[in-house]
Amino acid sequence: MGAGARAAKAYNHMWEEPVLTGSCGSGTVFFSGCNLRCIFCQNSGISRTGFGEPLTPDRLADIFLSLQEKKASNINLVTGVMFIPDIRDAIIIARKNGLFVPVVYNSGGYESPDALKLLDGLIDIYMPDFKYMSEEAAGKYSAAPDYSTHAKASIAEMFRQTGPVVPGENGMMKKGLIVRHLVLPGLVKDSKKILRYLHETYGNDIYVSIMSQYTPVPSVKDHPLLGRKITAEEYDRVLKFAEAIGIENGFTQTGEAAEESFIPSWDLDGIKQ
Ligand code: SF4
Repeated sequence: MGAGARAAKAYNHMWEEPVLTGSCGSGTVFFSGCNLRCIFCQNSGISRTGFGEPLTPDRLADIFLSLQEKKASNINLVTGVMFIPDIRDAIIIARKNGLFVPVVYNSGGYESPDALKLLDGLIDIYMPDFKYMSEEAAGKYSAAPDYSTHAKASIAEMFRQTGPVVPGENGMMKKGLIVRHLVLPGLVKDSKKILRYLHETYGNDIYVSIMSQYTPVPSVKDHPLLGRKITAEEYDRVLKFAEAIGIENGFTQTGEAAEESFIPSWDLDGIKQ
């Protein structure tokens, strides 16, 4: 990607975690491109081709404000790592012009702490993925064998900036981290390592969102592992592990989402009820 921000779409998205979605949706901006190359990417039209429109920081700030006008619960910046300097300028401009909702930085978790430092004080909620602990899986599936080293370092920097979760009004989230983990077929052991790491490092000061929605795209339909959805048994093993090690703050997706639908359906009460 070039230095200037590009985005493919922006709208109020109703299917994020319930603490972000609220009644009118999360004001989501999908940036073009990605710094990972996941072979199972559902958004390859945006992440691989660079599809989208160039946007100056002023224009981006206007988009944030128009989403807020449409009652967005927050501004949700998806995969913007390539454009952090422009995003920083856009947030500063938008705040000066009346942006008051929280700003969410939503990413694949493959960041650099130095880049994230440019956003210090501007992001209310970080929502990174933690995709793999295994070097082998990260190399084969996302072309980033050093993924876990960078995910750990970037999540540490995100937590340094926001601190523990701060709830907002009406069940919404005001500040903190949601770390997402998409359970992949055949990788239950890796999921457990990630959950253990997150819980040993951050306890219940972060939300952990354990996702079951993996759905093979046509390009991996013949892959020996990634060519199928996860089974209910695989997902159940991961959830039971999360509960056994004491994860209390988080979200799960219903069995139906894993079986039938790409659209997530969050368990509103979190892992423990
Ligand atoms: S991090 Fe997300 S957007 Fe980027 S390639 Fe992987 S699945 Fe696609």
